[in-house]
Amino acid sequence: MRIFDPHIHMTSRTTDDYRAMYDAGVRALVEPSFWLGQPRTSPASFFDYFDALLGWEPFRASQYGIAHHCTLALNPKEANDPRCTPVLDALPRYLVKDGVVAVGEIGYDSMTPAEDHALAAQLQLAADHGLPALVHTPHRDKLAGLHRTIDVIRESNLPPEHVLLDHLNETTVKAAADSGCWAGFSIYPDTKMDEDRMVTILRNHGTEKMIVNSAADWGKSDPLKTRKVADAMLKAGFTEDDVDQVLWRNPVAFYGQSGRLQLDVPAPDQLHEGNSILRGGE
Ligand SMILES: [Zn+2]
Repeated sequence: MRIFDPHIHMTSRTTDDYRAMYDAGVRALVEPSFWLGQPRTSPASFFDYFDALLGWEPFRASQYGIAHHCTLALNPKEANDPRCTPVLDALPRYLVKDGVVAVGEIGYDSMTPAEDHALAAQLQLAADHGLPALVHTPHRDKLAGLHRTIDVIRESNLPPEHVLLDHLNETTVKAAADSGCWAGFSIYPDTKMDEDRMVTILRNHGTEKMIVNSAADWGKSDPLKTRKVADAMLKAGFTEDDVDQVLWRNPVAFYGQSGRLQLDVPAPDQLHEGNSILRGGE
């Protein structure tokens, strides 16, 4: 089984996670830029983070046989902080880099005018750079937030098939599918969406343009949720081809629109033995 986790924050995870993900079948992933858990105090903080997502983290993933890509953006939460918004002016020089497969995560957090501005500006940046966009839907006021997000996408120059609407659930899946965008679902350990609810959604809405991720980060989350959805799908009677479509071909098709996916990473046992850079504490 081959798995592509299209939304996971590996910066917050350990090398044990990389190993367990490889053993579970994960061969590629996308790491969207997000906030740090505490406020950034200047745009320079973004630059160091973006550089890590483009350099260090792909290297670390490659040591475990996993292809790493990223999406870069000013995230919705920090769109409200004037210490952070100048990063919008610097994004164009990052969006031309090879490891960047989309603009994201963008979208609404509290639906403020500052978030309106950041969302519209970054949808335009995606259009300008020929990149798709990863658009997160708010955890509060989900349906209202989704409708407003879809309105802004319709007014943008980005076609809906270049947009992945993420963090969907039963209440938002229909509106998202009707919009023509790709539908993303984040599977969490005990709140929000779980693997059995995901299987029911796939049964009711089909597997076309449906994308599943673990969204694992430094909070309570599980980097193996993609594999657990695959297993739950098989148990519920979906075929291996259905699983391959949802867990591999769909994310490859979506992010492949960037023209920048590089999926050929050697397996860990083919990697050079003497590479000790990832040993703890060094
Ligand atoms: Zn995320």
